[in-house]
Amino acid sequence: MRSDTLSPCTDQKPDLAELREMVIGLRHYLEEERKLGLEGWPRVSSSSGAKSLSGPAMGHSLAPAELPAIRAELGDCRRCKLHPYRTQIVFGTGNPQAKLVFIGEAPGRDEDLQGEPFVGQAGQLLNKIIQAIQLRREEVYIANIIKCRPPENRNPEPDEIAACEPFLIKQLQVIRPRIICALGAFAAQTLLKTEEKISSLRGNFHEYQGILLMPTYHPAFLLRNPGRKREVWEDMKKIKKEYDRL
Ligand code: URA
Repeated sequence: MRSDTLSPCTDQKPDLAELREMVIGLRHYLEEERKLGLEGWPRVSSSSGAKSLSGPAMGHSLAPAELPAIRAELGDCRRCKLHPYRTQIVFGTGNPQAKLVFIGEAPGRDEDLQGEPFVGQAGQLLNKIIQAIQLRREEVYIANIIKCRPPENRNPEPDEIAACEPFLIKQLQVIRPRIICALGAFAAQTLLKTEEKISSLRGNFHEYQGILLMPTYHPAFLLRNPGRKREVWEDMKKIKKEYDRL
């Protein structure tokens, strides 16, 4: 656990409330990992170093074992106004060294109850999309722009994104993916800092902090508009082509 996640007090007693939050956060993270059948920390050989985990990525690089530290830092988060509504924080799940990361908008009802992203109907469709490019859910990493369910599944608000997105950025600094797939207009526009429509963003790679980013339609949109699956398949084929070159 990184010491810089603690208050910078040297002569004072440790802040017990802060320590308690970190322990709660770490416990949640371990439970999620156990559910996935992952035990122990990912190993990084001493010769490889964090920088060699992937190619060009975000400015800072953190070792994969730092994902639990980020979860611990999040603690029993009350940084924005969503915390009274949530059942569980939905941190993100999957391979801490994934080359491909899927990013959605925010947890829905099922995700809030289970503490894992994309486990409801949209999640079932996302699983099929992942399988269609011959990957398993466990091989990629899945997260959302924000980690708590907004009431009535409304869109996340700017102050909520401002409080939460730094944690997603830290997760990406740890994972150092080569490709990000932004699921839906909200994720794509938030990451790319644009108001351009998803219909014109999708279909081409964009650049996000040195990482290839492919926007595509959200699986929940596909459930309502199955005729648009063909376009998602086109986007996925482009992702797979890049993935196979890595
Ligand atoms: N929709 C999202 O954007 N994220 C989830 O985790 C579930 C549904």
